[in-house]
Amino acid sequence: MHHIDFKDKKVLIRVDFNVPLNGSNEITDDTRIRKAIPTLNYILDKGASLIIMSHLGRPQKKRLEDGSINREKFTLNHLTNHISKLLNREVKFCHSTIGGEAKMMSDRLTAGDVLLLENTRFHEEEAQSDPEFSAMLRALGDVYVNDAFGTAHRDHASTAGVARYFKPEEKGFGLLMKTEIDNADKVLKSPRRPFTAIIGGAKVSDKIKLLDRLIELANHIIIGGGMAYTFIKAQGGKVGDSLCENDYLDLANELLDKAKAEDVEIHLPTDSIVADKFDAQANSKVSESNEIEEGWMGLDIGPKAIAEFDQVLKASKTILWNGPLGVFEMEKFSEGTLATAHHVASATMEGAYSLIGGGDSVSAINKAGQTDEVSFVSTGGGALLTYLEGKTLPGIKAILS
Ligand code: AMP
Repeated sequence: MHHIDFKDKKVLIRVDFNVPLNGSNEITDDTRIRKAIPTLNYILDKGASLIIMSHLGRPQKKRLEDGSINREKFTLNHLTNHISKLLNREVKFCHSTIGGEAKMMSDRLTAGDVLLLENTRFHEEEAQSDPEFSAMLRALGDVYVNDAFGTAHRDHASTAGVARYFKPEEKGFGLLMKTEIDNADKVLKSPRRPFTAIIGGAKVSDKIKLLDRLIELANHIIIGGGMAYTFIKAQGGKVGDSLCENDYLDLANELLDKAKAEDVEIHLPTDSIVADKFDAQANSKVSESNEIEEGWMGLDIGPKAIAEFDQVLKASKTILWNGPLGVFEMEKFSEGTLATAHHVASATMEGAYSLIGGGDSVSAINKAGQTDEVSFVSTGGGALLTYLEGKTLPGIKAILS
């Protein structure tokens, strides 16, 4: 973005303001808005005006009974006052995303003005990356900035389609997007070694590509969460009623073989906290992870596993963490995830670089109160995982080409 001449330009910027709202349409967590504020201020300080684009929720999927868009629920106007407060200046709202009114309001902007467009997903053409819709967005601005890493894995009009209409000197990444890419690249391109990946979460089937790729990159892979039991069963262990994907046993063994061939150490939890049902009030006890009795299921890693994983983390110089190590939403089964969060924070304090990202891992690290003690917490979710899997993200490609 530093290569762009912003003076007196109308800057069309895609941000990810898809924030949660309560029943009264009040913002319950404004993290996503606050993360983009430095980029917005940077551009305004350079003497430009801003035309802000974002989606909010899934208005196409959640249409009203008569088939129309629920404009009242999904309007971005719910955010106008809050953005205005954070920017400390007036924000004008445009009730359309493209067309006459949007064009007229953008034409009237002068340096320092801010215009917020209506939800990009009110138009089906957004998700289709429709060229005509993209061209109409393009008509609103002189320059395009993408600061929406969270949606960079989607080939949509506002995240990718529109960028194709701008010349290289007229488009760039926002500060948040650039920071996200730089941090992911620290892990992907030049990790200090040993590099340890902690992969948790429910299912192996969701993380196959990620695991396959990490075997090529990491020195150690710690596997926890429900997915660990598919690996343990594949190796001949008894997993009782634990979550287990029987269709993936062969694949689990293939991944283990590949890791061996690549000299990557896979660490599975030696012991588990097992429960007699999937319930916060269930009876629980510690069991060896490969000797779980019928009628019991592993819902967290056990004390030995926590300590063994900590030894690996202590010796690591780069740590990537995706996915909780147990059912951390239930207090009784959150210890493995919370203890590991503390251990990642300690390793960071000792000089390791740590990147936490992807869905539940972020709420897990928040819950542990350790957000400020790791190197970087990604806002990326699906986008980060797609990037780590080695795929080119449409939102990134459209800026670079
Ligand atoms: P994911 O979206 O794949 O990262 O999975 C996150 C979900 O996995 C969370 O809701 C956890 O409760 C769940 N999970 C973690 N460990 C287990 C386990 N041992 N058994 C069942 N679910 C688990």
